[in-house]
Amino acid sequence: MALSEFALIERYFRRCGAQRADVRLGVGDDATLLAVPGDAELVAAIDTLVAGVHFPHGSPPASIGHRALAVNLSDLAAMGARPAWALLALTLPEAEENWLEEFTTGFADLARAHNVALVGGDTTRGPLCISVQLLGHVAAGTALTRGGGNAGDVLFVSGTCGDAAAGLAIEQGQLAADRDARAWLRERFLWPTPRVALGERLRGFASACIDVSDGLLADAGRLAQASHAGAELAWAELPLSQPLLEVLGEVRARELAFSGGDDYELCFAVPPQNVARLTAQLPPQEWRYARIGVLRAEPGTVVMRDGSVMEFSHSGYEHFR
Ligand code: ADP
Ligand code: MG
Repeated sequence: MALSEFALIERYFRRCGAQRADVRLGVGDDATLLAVPGDAELVAAIDTLVAGVHFPHGSPPASIGHRALAVNLSDLAAMGARPAWALLALTLPEAEENWLEEFTTGFADLARAHNVALVGGDTTRGPLCISVQLLGHVAAGTALTRGGGNAGDVLFVSGTCGDAAAGLAIEQGQLAADRDARAWLRERFLWPTPRVALGERLRGFASACIDVSDGLLADAGRLAQASHAGAELAWAELPLSQPLLEVLGEVRARELAFSGGDDYELCFAVPPQNVARLTAQLPPQEWRYARIGVLRAEPGTVVMRDGSVMEFSHSGYEHFR
């Protein structure tokens, strides 16, 4: 590497993201020392992005930095937790300064927006791979989990699903779109918005929560299974973005919204007695979430269309008669 490892760490990582008073010792020592609030539980998540697997080779470096943090912010959002500190394990083919400058800018901008400090990490040489560990906290006993739901709870999802999967397909030249839709959908893949504020506000309303990273159908199914329940989702109620509708038409857009990955929205269950309070205190138009179904006693995940069950197959959805 042209830069010494020490110089690289000093230049790019020592002051990256928010500065926080609770970081007693940050980048530069053998380990970081963090002052954890006494009445809170520590919440920790880690996610790895591998070039060519989790993002296309040659993705904009700033987007890679943004996404590496965003996927973890989304995990903490799903727990209802407040993020605070990040560690970054970076494996780089070479210390390319332009790349590092853009990567750390993408990471730092999102970190500052969520008051997250970069407090440590590791830098090694090898095929491009980024691992971010995110730490945060939540008032003891109040975290949202996947497993707290019950049959009868109403299921909601934030934002719109399927956009990022379309954006990735566009990015990879597999899907054509006009200029505006193309720009908007690519942005949904390259610059996902983790729903951190919503996750925190859902404590006290939601019984269970999961972030949608592998497709709504799969992730709603995981929430249901962890809650010892099944999920019944309504084909027609899933909110869709205008660009996705324009590019794919309604049927294909809905299929992708159920099955596509990388959305980083929140799917959450709310006991019926909490729904009126939820929608009064967090108006859905303002907080951008919609009712998509219910948890039910029968296990498994089904999508209902015009009163009958649709089932997933690899070719998409097929109507069951
Ligand atoms: P050690 O040999 O003790 O692991 P390193 O040279 O790996 O030390 O790291 C020196 C310091 O720089 C440590 O505080 C470490 O947390 C920090 N650091 C190294 N790489 C990164 C990185 N990519 N992002 C943030 N901090 C880093
Ligand atoms: Mg090290």
